[in-house]
Amino acid sequence: MDIDDTIQVRCSRCKGKFRDKARRVRDGYSRQCPSCERLLFFVDGSPNTDINDALRKAEQVRKLLRKAEEEEASRPARRAVETAVDDPEATVAISPTDRRVRGSGRTTISSR
Ligand SMILES: [Zn+2]
Repeated sequence: MDIDDTIQVRCSRCKGKFRDKARRVRDGYSRQCPSCERLLFFVDGSPNTDINDALRKAEQVRKLLRKAEEEEASRPARRAVETAVDDPEATVAISPTDRRVRGSGRTTISSR
């Protein structure tokens, strides 16, 4: 599973939105808004709802990322191979009987 490791931050001055890495956005982090160049300070418990929202979202994404990393470490690449074989559609496409029926139109008429 691919997890988006960026979160959306809204600038409280120009209301412009931009994305930043969830791993970086945490208490004590600061960055400049790309559109109005205002420096945004990410402080826990900030009265600014845009900052609070970004910090909360970043925390959630960091949790998801940590979970995904743990899962990946516990079960290696094997899973991808298993799902490919179990795919019912893949089996139908390869099936030789399917091709034979389509090849002779007569079989379809006589079976009626
Ligand atoms: Zn801005």
